[in-house]
Amino acid sequence: MQLLHRGDVGPAVSEIRNVLATLGLLPPPNGHVGPATYDESVEHAVRTFQQQRGLITDGVVGPATYRALTDAKWRLGDRSLAYFVSRPISGDDVFALQERLLELGYDAGRPDGIFGRQTEHALRNFQREYALNSDGICGPATLRSLRQLAPKVRGGRPVYLREQEKVRRAGPRLRGKRIVIDPGHGGNDRGAVVNGVAEADLAWDFARRLEGRMVATGMEALISRGPNSCPADADRAAFANEAGADLFLSLHVDANRSQQAQGVATFHFGTGNGTTSNVGEALAGFLQREVVARTAMLDCRTHPKSWEVLRWTKMPAVRIEAGYLSNPQDRARLLDPGFRDVVAEAVLVAVKRLYLLGKDDQPTGTFTFDDLLRYELSRAEGA
Ligand SMILES: [Zn+2]
Repeated sequence: MQLLHRGDVGPAVSEIRNVLATLGLLPPPNGHVGPATYDESVEHAVRTFQQQRGLITDGVVGPATYRALTDAKWRLGDRSLAYFVSRPISGDDVFALQERLLELGYDAGRPDGIFGRQTEHALRNFQREYALNSDGICGPATLRSLRQLAPKVRGGRPVYLREQEKVRRAGPRLRGKRIVIDPGHGGNDRGAVVNGVAEADLAWDFARRLEGRMVATGMEALISRGPNSCPADADRAAFANEAGADLFLSLHVDANRSQQAQGVATFHFGTGNGTTSNVGEALAGFLQREVVARTAMLDCRTHPKSWEVLRWTKMPAVRIEAGYLSNPQDRARLLDPGFRDVVAEAVLVAVKRLYLLGKDDQPTGTFTFDDLLRYELSRAEGA
């Protein structure tokens, strides 16, 4: 598709304006006739939308933003939903349906906004149990029933309980665990660039430091991209899914127009209204605490997000934003290789804590890489 940006005029712009208005990011169209223009207000709304969805906030509508906008315009009930093998339906309405099925105790898998085989299976089960025509199509009658029922499942949803069980069964040792490390951006996409320092390069550097430590403990570390390439988020997720990874760690740094913005934040999959990957949340918590305790960076906490890499990965996934290139203190830290080692170590220890299920007596921030190697080795001998 063609990129749309400021100054463009025409029907494609009008379509985008309508979606942004539906989402409340632009005032509703005021009946004004004439060609729609991609003006400053549209650009601002696109940026806000991109920020909400974890897309690159460039104010330009490229393929990823266009797809997200197209998905976002669908509300549950706008159309019938069913499984089409060759061309699966995607949209926010599918996401809402998956959420609803999970709330009612039907295993629709990890909600990803794509109507796949498992969504159909869960929907048919629901229809069967509620004496509806079990055709696997979410039409008006099915929708009515879905809406009338009170949620049955609170706290634990099958897909997340499975994730927890998998971590528990995997045992405390790191050896043999397969991790996908995902350095953000790359290639032509430099990410945040401030005074000649690019996020893509820093993310790559972090990834290599982390990879080295993981390999030393006997883990299998795979990197989601080459040093000079930038796969789409969907491809990064697919890479991890195909590898059957145990965890997915996405590494980014941030920048802001304000120099004041600083600190570290970690994100895990969740919608902010109930659906949360418990393992992702636990890992994000360990990661955030270890990094903050070791670096004295400002604690910008952990947050649930339904960003593509978090949503489309089938394993617990987190994304860290380790400081702001636009903030003088954070920048000085990020440019120091010693600091980058500390962050890599913190990430590794956080993974270890996840597999120890929080059952260890080392205070946060004190577990060293050497401790960790010793631990792995003693276990190996005892086994
Ligand atoms: Zn980034």
